[in-house]
Amino acid sequence: MAGALIPMTTDPRSQATAGLQGARCSGCSVTVYPAEDACPRCGGPADPVALQGTGTLWTWTVQRYAPKSPPYEPPPGGFVPFALGYVELAEDVRVAAVLDLDDLDDIRIGMPLSVTAGPGVPRARPTTPAEERS
Ligand SMILES: [Zn+2]
Repeated sequence: MAGALIPMTTDPRSQATAGLQGARCSGCSVTVYPAEDACPRCGGPADPVALQGTGTLWTWTVQRYAPKSPPYEPPPGGFVPFALGYVELAEDVRVAAVLDLDDLDDIRIGMPLSVTAGPGVPRARPTTPAEERS
């Protein structure tokens, strides 16, 4: 999985962009992310669907060493360990995302997270109380 890592950006503008584009099977209603043309379960046609992007942390790990380069490009300041996890969305699909938390010790399985699509790997950050109420 580490080989699939794509250079990350810390540009805050990129985190405010569109939601996650997944796909839902018209036959068995399986939802997948990233979007695919065919359902991985039954092979039926899958239609694009915008995922809500909120869910809970399913599992996670910390990337403590720089991934192989290329394709990984370390940030200008050098590599910094980061957390990578799977977020289980309300749509019942798990999305791999970089966890944007200041303190990795705050990460807990089951914690509410909001996932946003970026130029590379999706990013997840803790859901704020205001977002939970909406
Ligand atoms: Zn299907």
